[in-house]
Amino acid sequence: AKELGGNNHRFFDDTMNELVIKKDQIERMMRLALERNEFNVHYQPQIESATGKIRGFEALVRWNSPELGFVSPEDFVPIAEKTGLITQIDELVMYQACLKNVELQHQFDYPFLMAVNISALQLGRADFVDKVQLILNETKMKPEYLEIEITESILVESFESSISILRKLESLGIKIAQDDFGTGYSSLNYLNVLPIHTLKIDRSFIQNMTSATAEKTIIESIINLVHKLGHDVVAEGVETKEQYILLKEWNCDFVQGYYFSRPVSEDKLVELLMEEKNY
Ligand code: C2E
Ligand code: CA
Ligand code: CA
Ligand code: CA
Repeated sequence: AKELGGNNHRFFDDTMNELVIKKDQIERMMRLALERNEFNVHYQPQIESATGKIRGFEALVRWNSPELGFVSPEDFVPIAEKTGLITQIDELVMYQACLKNVELQHQFDYPFLMAVNISALQLGRADFVDKVQLILNETKMKPEYLEIEITESILVESFESSISILRKLESLGIKIAQDDFGTGYSSLNYLNVLPIHTLKIDRSFIQNMTSATAEKTIIESIINLVHKLGHDVVAEGVETKEQYILLKEWNCDFVQGYYFSRPVSEDKLVELLMEEKNY
C-alpha cells in the first residue's frame, strides 16, 4: 500500500486484514504514539566505496504500535504528512539521531555523518531553521556532521521559500542531500538551483542495473555529471556484490543497502561498529 491518496483504508489491507480504521483514528493513534514514545529510530550505514569505511548513517523512523504491530514508514509517513504530525516525528528523529551521533563519535573517535529525512512540509515552516539550531545546541551536534535529506516534492510545494530555508541550513554548515534522485520530474534542472552537497540515486536504478545495459549507462553518466557539478553521490538500495563492484568502478562515492546492512536498532548499531567489518 504505497500510494494512499484519499483511499486510506488500503493501508489496513496489509496490516490489519478486515479491520477498517479511518484516517482520524490513525491520526489519534499517532498522537498517542508520540505521547507513549512508540516511535524510535533505526540506522543504516553508508559506506565509502574507495575505502570500505563507514561514512555515516541514515536515520529511519520506526513505529512499533501495541495495537497495530510494526507499521511501515511507507504507510504512516504519508498520513503523518497529511495531518501535520510529521513535524513532531521528524524533530524527534533528528534529536535522537544527533544525540546518537555525538555518542558514537565519542565512543569510536570517528567523524561519522548522520543523515535525517525531512518532510517537504518542514521547509515551508518559518521556524524550521530555529528548530534545527535548537536541536544542534541541545545535543551538542556539530552542523557539519548533519545531512538533511530532501525529496523533489519540496520544490513543488513552495519553491522560493524552500530554497531560502535550504540556503540558511547550508550557511549553518549543514549538508543537504537530494533523496530518491531519478524518481521525480525535471531532476536535472534542480541540480543547479538547489544548494545540495549530495545526491542519492534511487534504488530503482540500482536494482535494475546489473541486468539492463541502459541503466548502467544512465547511472555511470549521472555519477560523472554530479561529480562535474561538485557534488557527492550515494547509491541507495545496493543489494548485491555485483552492484557494489560496478558502482566502485564508476567512482560512486558512497553506497548504502542491504548488501552492507539493513537499518538496525541503536544497540545493534554499536555491535555492527565493534565488528569493524571490511566492506
Ligand atoms: P527513503 O528515505 O528513500 O529511505 C530508504 C528506504 O529504503 C528505507 O525504508 C530503507 O529501509 C530501505 N532500504 C535500504 N536499503 C535497501 C535495500 O538494499 N533494498 C531495499 N529494498 N530497501 C532498502 P524505510 O525505512 O521503510 O523508509 C521508507 C521511507 O519512509 C523513506 O524512504 C522515507 O521517505 C520515509 N521515512 C523514513 N523515516 C523517515 C523520517 O524520519 N522522516 C520522514 N519525513 N520520512 C521518513
Ligand atoms: Ca532518505
Ligand atoms: Ca531514498
Ligand atoms: Ca523514498
